[in-house]
Amino acid sequence: MTTAQIRNAMTIDVEDYFQVSAFAPHILREHWDSLPCRVERNIDIALALLNEGNAHATFFTLGWVAERYPDVVRRIVDNGHELASHGYGHHRVSDQNRNDFGKDITHAKKLLEDISGSSVIGYRAPSFSIGADNLWAHDVLLEAGYQYSSSIYPIRHDHYGMPEAPRFAHYPRGEGGVLELPPTTVALLGRNLPAAGGGYFRLLPYQASRWLIRRVNHQDGKPCIFYFHPWELDPDQPRQQGISLKTQFRHYVNLTRMESRIQALLRDFHWDRMDRVFMKAET
Ligand SMILES: [Zn+2]
Repeated sequence: MTTAQIRNAMTIDVEDYFQVSAFAPHILREHWDSLPCRVERNIDIALALLNEGNAHATFFTLGWVAERYPDVVRRIVDNGHELASHGYGHHRVSDQNRNDFGKDITHAKKLLEDISGSSVIGYRAPSFSIGADNLWAHDVLLEAGYQYSSSIYPIRHDHYGMPEAPRFAHYPRGEGGVLELPPTTVALLGRNLPAAGGGYFRLLPYQASRWLIRRVNHQDGKPCIFYFHPWELDPDQPRQQGISLKTQFRHYVNLTRMESRIQALLRDFHWDRMDRVFMKAET
């Protein structure tokens, strides 16, 4: 199989710059409504890039954003993309009990479905916060009517990750449960390297990311799952004060290069929605 024939999955986590988990200690939730919102403008840029690149994607959307910007949700669906859930208020799953998690994902699903008029079957946990300690989350997702999740990152990272988890599609709670579709990693020298986007994609030269994705397509013969955020396309976003140098670096590194890198990715690979790449009923 050639690279051109493999359909990879492009995903976007629809949230604003002030909602990222690393800023949580500095920005109170009560203040979200008073901050200048950039998500609508940035989603329009993402939609234009996908359109130019003749690609479709899955948008894991926060209920909080959908409620305030229903037109954003409708534009995503009208452009032929898959609408999926990122939960309501960007609470990490690892900070919630079963009951609160169930309420959050049920509320988000209903909001997204009511606004879009289409069914929502996919979920991504904020900050990939499902791992060895809370695999019960997949049972709660099933009860809430979700069919797949893209929430377990099989890497070692200071804020998330489950390095021992399978690198490709699997059922963490057995068949008949929710299918887990992990963000892409490359197995190299006994470790799993992140190859799915985020700060790594902005930090490494583009050629390195392209090599990693090609390696998964060729060596593993598997589709990749890539992700980015609307705020990564926005070098002019308001700068957050008082954060650590590490957080500052991770959030702001190479934002000005992101747009051209996404264009390159869309040119070099074939991208589609998660449901069409992985869920047989939708193909
Ligand atoms: Zn998020």
